[in-house]
Amino acid sequence: MTDLTIRTLDATRTIPEEILSALRRKMDGALVLPGEEGYDAARTIWNAMVDRRPALVARCMGAADVIRMVKLARDAKVLIAVRSGGHNIAGNAVCDGGLMIDLSLMKSVHVDPASRTARVEPGATLAHFDRAAQAFGLMTPLGINSTTGVAGLTLGGGFGWTTRKFGLTIDNLVSADVITAEGELVQANEKEHPDLFWALRGGGGNFGVVTSFEFKLHSLGPEVLSGLVVHPLDEAAKLLPEFRRLANEAPDELTTWAVMRKAPPLPFLPAEWHGKEVLIFAACYSGDMAEGEKATRALRALGRPIADVISPHPFAGWQTAFDPLLTAGARNYWKSHDFADLSDAAIEVILRAVRALPSPECEVFIAHVGGAMSRVAPETAAWPNRNAHFVLNAHARWRDKADDGACVAWARGLFDAAAPFAMGSAYINFMPEDESDRVETAYGANYRRLAEIKRRYDPDNLFRMNQNIRPA
Ligand SMILES: Cc1cc2nc3c(=O)[nH]c(=O)nc-3n(C[C@H](O)[C@H](O)[C@H](O)COP(=O)(O)OP(=O)(O)OC[C@H]3O[C@@H](n4cnc5c(N)ncnc54)[C@H](O)[C@@H]3O)c2cc1C
Repeated sequence: MTDLTIRTLDATRTIPEEILSALRRKMDGALVLPGEEGYDAARTIWNAMVDRRPALVARCMGAADVIRMVKLARDAKVLIAVRSGGHNIAGNAVCDGGLMIDLSLMKSVHVDPASRTARVEPGATLAHFDRAAQAFGLMTPLGINSTTGVAGLTLGGGFGWTTRKFGLTIDNLVSADVITAEGELVQANEKEHPDLFWALRGGGGNFGVVTSFEFKLHSLGPEVLSGLVVHPLDEAAKLLPEFRRLANEAPDELTTWAVMRKAPPLPFLPAEWHGKEVLIFAACYSGDMAEGEKATRALRALGRPIADVISPHPFAGWQTAFDPLLTAGARNYWKSHDFADLSDAAIEVILRAVRALPSPECEVFIAHVGGAMSRVAPETAAWPNRNAHFVLNAHARWRDKADDGACVAWARGLFDAAAPFAMGSAYINFMPEDESDRVETAYGANYRRLAEIKRRYDPDNLFRMNQNIRPA
């Protein structure tokens, strides 16, 4: 090792070789420099648009490693990025020239079936969590793509197939171990550091590095009624108002999302539909199978589907259903809106965008949320968007850098056209890097309290590679 030049919060500084060597000896994990083994794996994240080169990567193996790194960063005012699953679209998990605290090797999930809780390390993905919890017929609400990190998803809020029944991911968070900007380990829960616990539930990576999450678990599975109903996109103008009606009438157990894209070559789709625009209803019933059959009947009776593959599926398997469409390594840019309702005018602008998809992998997701999540008061946790009923996500996704302009413009075009019908709120976990001006609006009435808590726990804004909340 030689002396290391590293980016600080306002300039660069040199960390002498002897300090680095001493740190290296103390680490359970590894300190990795550019060119060393593991460097590229650590700095490569889900979104291929993000290609940054930290000066130093700390591949941590436990809270003690994280404490050493946070203290180093605090004392030398080093720019830090925190990586868990590495899925965030904005790419804040990795920084140029600074210190990357990589938690992706810390992936243990410890399930306690007696207390129906799980202790989860930040590098665990949703797949790790679901596999461990489903071994006991248990789960907590997470997202819809199993390679997503539990950590970032939770800190931003977290919703998926079972949110309407069991709440947001944060509604099921019991406690978290946090390394603060001072390099101290604190446990945050309803009784200890309650303000910090409030802020962690939706406030993102602003308040410290979480080294362990404790969740409450619910019984579900091993099978759930779930699957897809696929229609030609030409039917969408008729079917989306029906989707809206059924969503408004749905019991909490039933969650249906609408996805519009060019049909992938799924084995159950006739070959002539591959590559053609389709409307996909993806449904999951979080409850009794027979009740699920009844609850999904109206959805399945709509129009004349090209395919209907709703049937009992292992819950952990259904949680991976969209993985093949959302693999790592593509270029991605997202724009998202919350809707209280899906007006006819909103449907019209969405359909106009879907008829002009700029690449075969671009797609529009309309998530149906609400239910249990909406019955929690907005001031209970930092996440404020309890009244959202639908969340639109324009996923621009492509392979060739030359298509950056067209694909980004497509997502922005849909976002702008849909804005008059949206609530104005936003989900921080769906924000691309260029939406820092939207953070304050995203938190609405909760922003002021978040800024105050940020001032107490991170007055120098050490944790700034995130959807940043400035210290009050
Ligand atoms: C394909 C895909 C599908 C998705 N589907 C859903 C979905 O269904 N539902 C949903 O709610 N969201 C979904 N998301 C959004 C997802 O929740 C966010 O991208 C989330 O940030 C990913 O977490 P991560 O740990 O993988 O990310 P990372 O990129 O590792 O982290 C994101 C940010 O969170 C902070 N952070 C991460 N770990 C820690 C930690 N341990 N301590 C402190 N701060 C930390 C940092 O600021 C970091 O920059 C999806 C994203 C993708 C790309």
